[in-house]
Amino acid sequence: MQIGDLIRRAGRQFGAAPALVEGERVVTFAEFDALTDRLGHALLARGLEPGDRVAALLPNGIDGVVVYYALAKSGLVRVPLNARETRHELAFKIEDSQARALVVAGDAPAPVEITIPVDDLPSMIADAPDGPCDVRRDPDAPLRLAYTGGTTGKPKAVVLTTRSELAEVDNFLVDLLPNLRPDSVMLHAAPITHGSGAFFLPHLVKGAANVIVPKFSPAAFLEAAQKHRATSTFMVPTMIGMLVEDPATAAAASSGDLALERLCYGGAPIATTVLQRGIDVLGPVFTQLYGQAEAPLAITCLQPWEHTPERLTAAGKPYTFVEVDIRDAEGRSLGVDEVGEVLTRGPHTMDRYWRRPEATAETKDADGWVHTGDIGRWDAEGYLHLLDRRHDVIISGGFNVYPREVEDALLAHPAVVEAAVVGLPDEKWGERVTAAVVTRTDADPEEIRGFCTDRLAGFKRPKTVEIWAELPTSPVGKSLRREVRDRMLSRAELAGARHEDREDA
Ligand code: AMP
Repeated sequence: MQIGDLIRRAGRQFGAAPALVEGERVVTFAEFDALTDRLGHALLARGLEPGDRVAALLPNGIDGVVVYYALAKSGLVRVPLNARETRHELAFKIEDSQARALVVAGDAPAPVEITIPVDDLPSMIADAPDGPCDVRRDPDAPLRLAYTGGTTGKPKAVVLTTRSELAEVDNFLVDLLPNLRPDSVMLHAAPITHGSGAFFLPHLVKGAANVIVPKFSPAAFLEAAQKHRATSTFMVPTMIGMLVEDPATAAAASSGDLALERLCYGGAPIATTVLQRGIDVLGPVFTQLYGQAEAPLAITCLQPWEHTPERLTAAGKPYTFVEVDIRDAEGRSLGVDEVGEVLTRGPHTMDRYWRRPEATAETKDADGWVHTGDIGRWDAEGYLHLLDRRHDVIISGGFNVYPREVEDALLAHPAVVEAAVVGLPDEKWGERVTAAVVTRTDADPEEIRGFCTDRLAGFKRPKTVEIWAELPTSPVGKSLRREVRDRMLSRAELAGARHEDREDA
């Protein structure tokens, strides 16, 4: 089966029903099938050949979706780019993917052989022949390239195939969205280039509409959710924080105007305070997804009914058809409460990294297990608890400190809205736990440090807390601890500052 087959069948089955909605613009299932066929023909008519990479740098909206699925039908390989990235990052990805074409709103960040301004799409579609565009591709050939978050080193692209995409749809339909009906509605408020994009196909195949909000704000989200009676949505943790802080959210929820059945979230750790507040305001709709570009959104999930107070720090249980194992450095499978690296295997995982055989060999072993780089443990009920990224673990005085645990303790302070914890080199301790926080009101760093005393063992407590105006985040809202650390280090170098130890470990 090909992705285009699903679109064609949905076009026949749900013809006049709305498939895509963005503001006042509505595209029916039959129209979506026809638009993607025509654009597929038009792309091939420009001289592109199956297997060629086509980058897309577009705002969150219907055009992007039409482009993505036209590429699927025409055998081309989609490279979604996020407009919030810098020109430099975008140029790197265009070059690295060896894109032959770029569909772009605005200026192209790097030269490509074929540039297609988004404004040309209507005429390309109008001039193209009718009839199915149906380039069959090997199920293991690249369908799309997804760049990793780039929280460490240069971004790498993972190669996802038709096989992995269909497996992802399976995972979603079995574990996350088992009750989809034609009157279900998915609200895309996060970038469709990332996590939210994985929700299109499961909704499409069941005849449900996908509504896109071009730019997230709590107000825009609430308006669309009420107007369209959205039943599912996807957010990254920062968006949930913004949503629950807004008094309009509680008002909308208590008025009964929200129809949300699933608010899926993931992509980064969430502070338990934010999550609990979300549940208090919006009810038992939260569904956590843990995944990574190498295993898109589907390693484990924590279902709404599993969000009990003692389990809010868990990442959930493996999806039904996904294998997950925790292993030590020697590759032995670990049991309850033993800490090691999380591994996952299944048809939805990446085929390989694009043009990076060494990185592929490091990440995906001969048995098909993907080494996630995340450190975790199982609890006695089979829930996975993530401690942190392997590379972010701080070793202070010989003890492992997981920055996430320290960040969680800081976030419990009423004035702290964001926190990033890093290790800086230290003569005495090896590494010194250091925190940068953003506060809601004026706050005293020493008081915040003191606040951690009851919550954290001495070796985990930040030796220094700095108050920053904002913390660096990636375009999808991931905290960039590496960047925090780099800034602290370069400042320390500049000042030639000598650190005074505080003897509280
Ligand atoms: P990316 O490949 O950019 O999507 O980043 C994936 C990484 O984000 C994972 O390896 C985790 O470290 C982190 N992550 C994703 N989902 C979660 C989650 N639900 N809880 C905690 N961390 C997460």
